[in-house]
Amino acid sequence: MTVPNPTAPKRRIFKSPEASFAHRTKREGDCLIWTGAIRPNGYGVIWDGQRVVRVHRWNYERHHGPIPAGTDLDHICGNRACANPVHLRVTTRKQNMENLRGAYRGNASGVRGVSRDGDKWRVRVKHNYREYYGGVYETIAEAEQAAIDLRNRLFTHNTADRAAA
Ligand SMILES: [Zn+2]
Repeated sequence: MTVPNPTAPKRRIFKSPEASFAHRTKREGDCLIWTGAIRPNGYGVIWDGQRVVRVHRWNYERHHGPIPAGTDLDHICGNRACANPVHLRVTTRKQNMENLRGAYRGNASGVRGVSRDGDKWRVRVKHNYREYYGGVYETIAEAEQAAIDLRNRLFTHNTADRAAA
């Protein structure tokens, strides 16, 4: 006879992936953190009704439609457990590798490369161990775009340098 283990986490069966998602996410700053199963690579997974899929991809497609073949979904916030569609963007494989190489976390805004500066938002991007200043902006959305543009300029420049060498 088996005795119920009172310390074992309760397993719940959800009637839909949407219900499972709603129950298994929590807000952390601007991030929407998956509290369900996390694979050793750091990505959360969810049962979509047919198979186990990466939860950030599943939630992105729920909001934006299918992710184009041959592209990656990049976490702007750097947190792989985050499934906030606003923190995700489609990139080519090459761009995503460059972003990972330059990735760093821990700024207060929840957006990579953007931090608070009084009531404004300051952009600083790290690239090849140097820090590049990208200006100060009224809104976090403008600052985020500026950080993305600056990173793209730095990475493109870097790639061109290497190609020329
Ligand atoms: Zn996030």
